Amino acid sequence: MKAVCWQGANKVEVETVPDPKIINPGDAVIRITSTAICGSDLHLYDGFIPTMEQGDILGHEFMGEVVEVGSEVKRIKVGDRVVNPFPIACGHCFFCKQTLTSLCDNTNPNAFMAEALMGYSPSGIFGYSHMLGGYAGGQAEYARVPHADVGLYKIPNGLTDEQVLFLSDIFPTGYMAAENCDIKPGHVVAIWGCGPVAQFAIRSAFLLGAERVIAIDRVPERLQMAKDGGAEVLNFEQVDVGEALKEMTGGRGPDAVMDAVGMESHGLGLEGFYDKAKQAVGSAQDVMIEK
Ligand SMILES: [Zn+2]
Ligand SMILES: [Zn+2]
Repeated sequence: MKAVCWQGANKVEVETVPDPKIINPGDAVIRITSTAICGSDLHLYDGFIPTMEQGDILGHEFMGEVVEVGSEVKRIKVGDRVVNPFPIACGHCFFCKQTLTSLCDNTNPNAFMAEALMGYSPSGIFGYSHMLGGYAGGQAEYARVPHADVGLYKIPNGLTDEQVLFLSDIFPTGYMAAENCDIKPGHVVAIWGCGPVAQFAIRSAFLLGAERVIAIDRVPERLQMAKDGGAEVLNFEQVDVGEALKEMTGGRGPDAVMDAVGMESHGLGLEGFYDKAKQAVGSAQDVMIEK
């Protein structure tokens, strides 16, 4: 099959690689029909995430049709259309039982590497370095999905790929940011950044009862999209954001704020992160960092 493969910092290539196979009885193989590029893929592309290896298949936001299932898969059937969430969860560990599936204790065999860098390890994640499990990603024609019965979400009939693809990551990511704001009726919420996650966060904030959402960016198309979603907008190149927010809220400021700006866009501080990452996992044999 064809797949998007990481070749080193700032270089990805479409390569021909072996098709994925069922390895464990809980696996499914899906034929990818749609996949997305995440803002987080930029961190891989730009070389900020250690433990990538040449040839690793990228992509953690994907959906498709199930073409094969392992002998223990019960809920998911061949032919199902499914969306795949980016964390891999076993469904029966301490964290999974509390629905904290992104903390699954069983799916990252390289947790010690992630712990060296971040203190704690999340679950395994598709297409996102060896310190997060070394799983092949979904920017490919096919992908193997472990614990298929746990993660895969069956798509109700009649919905198009475009209507459901973003359930794989950015819609729940934006929704959770809004949820964390503990929005009450009448609240004013400000959002830094108007990229894709922020667009979902804006709409989620309204869904959760915000009265006003103020969205901040400098890219006209993004600001327009925020407006179309009902937000008031500020261009940070044209106004003093702090002053403007106070002025728009009777001097009090917003009730809650969200930062939806990607790591690279912050500009400063990346060198520090890079050095820390390199030190933290430098001892692992298969670490490969190119800058
Ligand atoms: Zn993502
Ligand atoms: Zn688990």
